[in-house]
Amino acid sequence: MDTQMLIGSRFETGTETEEHILNPKTGETVLNLAEASLGQIDAAVDAAEKAFVTWAQTTPSERSTYLLKIADTIERDAKGFATLEALNCGKPINAVLNDEIPAIVDCYRFFAGAVRNLHGPVAGEYLPGHTSMIRRDPIGIVGSIAPWNYPLMMMAWKLAPAIAGGNTVVFKPSEQTPLTALKMAKLLSDILPEGVVNVILGRGESVGNALINHPKIDMVSITGDIATGKKVLQAAAKTVKRTHLELGGKAPVIIFDDADIDAVVAGIRTFGYYNAGQDCTAACRIYADARVYDNFVADLTSAVSSIRFNQTDDTENEIGPLISKRQRDRVESFVTRASEHKHMDITTGGKVSGDKGFFFAPTVVAGATQEDEIVRREVFGPVVSVTRFTNVEDAVTWANDSDYGLASSVWTKDIGRGMKTAARLQYGCTWINTHFMLVNEMPHGGLKQSGYGKDMSVYALEDYTAVRHVMINHG
Ligand code: NAD
Repeated sequence: MDTQMLIGSRFETGTETEEHILNPKTGETVLNLAEASLGQIDAAVDAAEKAFVTWAQTTPSERSTYLLKIADTIERDAKGFATLEALNCGKPINAVLNDEIPAIVDCYRFFAGAVRNLHGPVAGEYLPGHTSMIRRDPIGIVGSIAPWNYPLMMMAWKLAPAIAGGNTVVFKPSEQTPLTALKMAKLLSDILPEGVVNVILGRGESVGNALINHPKIDMVSITGDIATGKKVLQAAAKTVKRTHLELGGKAPVIIFDDADIDAVVAGIRTFGYYNAGQDCTAACRIYADARVYDNFVADLTSAVSSIRFNQTDDTENEIGPLISKRQRDRVESFVTRASEHKHMDITTGGKVSGDKGFFFAPTVVAGATQEDEIVRREVFGPVVSVTRFTNVEDAVTWANDSDYGLASSVWTKDIGRGMKTAARLQYGCTWINTHFMLVNEMPHGGLKQSGYGKDMSVYALEDYTAVRHVMINHG
């Protein structure tokens, strides 16, 4: 197992506070890893600064070749990466191997192609005797900070467009899930020139905080909580850093009376509970038309109670545990508070499961209303609320009535109705008759307090590059 940070071309162990890296399936410690010192953070930033001088001058074709090599190398070692990610996050191995790794490999391949295909306005003589052209140049040193729910995928979403765009990076994984980032550090140091990507370890309040306040960091890219995003903005104000924020979600799902209820139930069973609901796009906030509400709740309850988890044979598992005891306790407290209200009914799940690890039974909370905490706050666990609506205006208003604005879905057989509703939803993404499906060609990112950075797609490449104007006087 790779356990050292990457600073320039050196592999180093942190010198500060040790973090216990846990296996969420058992709660046992896998190993302890010490976090970076301020000196090591500075050294990583200095290495990125030095590397930027030559990396920024490489051609798109050269950078593309590096990205393709990274993709091929991950693909060849898919099992190794998947095993480590499953260990550190408690994810079912098949979910990592079959869903996540191919999407991660494709992310590097997508940006390898995209960087060779950037478009912009045409050069021309907009002032007589002068030719103007538009350039897209790297921003500089990017401080990238990732969450724990999809460690390797978030690393891909952040690294691929950043280095494709000619930037250099200091990357900090979540203190809870650093193992695949450390394996990537080894892979990246074998492939990339020294200092293009540096990987440092540590907690948010220490190492993360030092990174976002570092005067030499030109841009901060972070996926995490809204509260963390706000701290990034405050820090960024000091030196007017660029920021790329991906912050949580509370995805509404509108189910019309003409929806194919079997398809909706199958969809929510998957998209509401995938990764134990630790997903910012999870289909967790359902608004169901009163005419289909009772049947839907009954069918969903029975479907959700059949989700397989905590089986000894991991290939049987559909979902894993929560990432930590703290996260499981948090999820449990949301459900306990919901159950104390008479109008809400926990139709399945609702409790901690097993005597080891951080499992929580997949849960349906029926009868929720718009003002309930379970409808308004991000639970980030295997919990879906269902709210009844009798008129469509209410459903759209309630769906939009949220601090979050990341993802949403509409389920109906009437495509006109689906399109009309999608147009009114204030979310970075709206799916019609599906949910959760992402492709590297299309952007992922939010509105409102979900943030404004776009991951994946050419829009991410635009976020990680600066538009510049060069004008030539014909003389
Ligand atoms: P978090 O905000 O606690 O931590 C995210 C990262 O930020 C970690 O690496 C952490 O160490 C770091 N961090 C924390 N405090 C910091 C500080 N003061 N300065 C600098 N860095 C700091 O979030 P989490 O608990 O790891 O992840 C869960 C959250 O992430 C959820 O809210 C979820 O919705 C969100 N998320 C969003 C997306 C998206 O695409 N929008 C994707 C995945 C997760």
